[in-house]
Amino acid sequence: MAPRPVIAGNWKMFGSRAMADAYAAGLQQKLAAARPRGDLVICPPAILIGDLARALAGSGVGIGGQDCHSEATGAHTGDIAAPMIADAGGGWVIVGHSERRAAHGESDTEVAAKAAAAHAAGLIAIICIGESAAEREQGEAQAVVARQIAGSVPSGAGAANSVVAYEPIWAIGSGVTPTASDIADMHRHIRACVRKNMTDPDGVRLLYGGSVKRANAREILATAEVNGVLVGGASLELEEFWAIAEACPLARIGFA
Ligand code: PEP
Repeated sequence: MAPRPVIAGNWKMFGSRAMADAYAAGLQQKLAAARPRGDLVICPPAILIGDLARALAGSGVGIGGQDCHSEATGAHTGDIAAPMIADAGGGWVIVGHSERRAAHGESDTEVAAKAAAAHAAGLIAIICIGESAAEREQGEAQAVVARQIAGSVPSGAGAANSVVAYEPIWAIGSGVTPTASDIADMHRHIRACVRKNMTDPDGVRLLYGGSVKRANAREILATAEVNGVLVGGASLELEEFWAIAEACPLARIGFA
């Protein structure tokens, strides 16, 4: 049986308390009328995790951070520890997003340490991987992704505590997506890598991320080995995010 899909939103550095309040109220209304069978997860800026967790308590919607430190406490000004995300009501955290790998120089080793910290705090780590445009043009995409999985997945990672998000860097925020057949090829390759690196590998949810919108969600979510999506820009609009959730083949069964 295919694993339960995940529809995750990454708000990046956007949002406000007013926006989070309105979003949560709107989402609660939608959930009162229809229950998605997939897992909905929202990853707002850290300062909004508590607000969203309170506003969506009991709804079944997961809340996550966008990053965490590899240590549980310490003199790390400006950083957020995984236990703090859990304490604020979060259950998930994105690690290794390409924007952090690029802007903060995060290596695979550091990403693995962050994922391990997330696991220790009881969070599900959304471990991001993906090649650059140049790497794809040079025919290195699969090798890059294999290396990232081997390096970014900590020991003990498996279906119960981790999700892998394939986000080709050139697709993020660009409006361009790989073809469904390219996504399927890459996800089959990722599944093979996951079998070498993770426990319960066939249960590990493999998400696609990069310019997912209402218009392309149905095709992407129906693609072989795609068990959900990580949505950036389009997750900021509730109607758009909800339409993406409704496009999920398994989730649709659960909508009234
Ligand atoms: C992301 O930042 O994880 C992402 C997928 O962004 P977008 O959907 O805007 O391309």
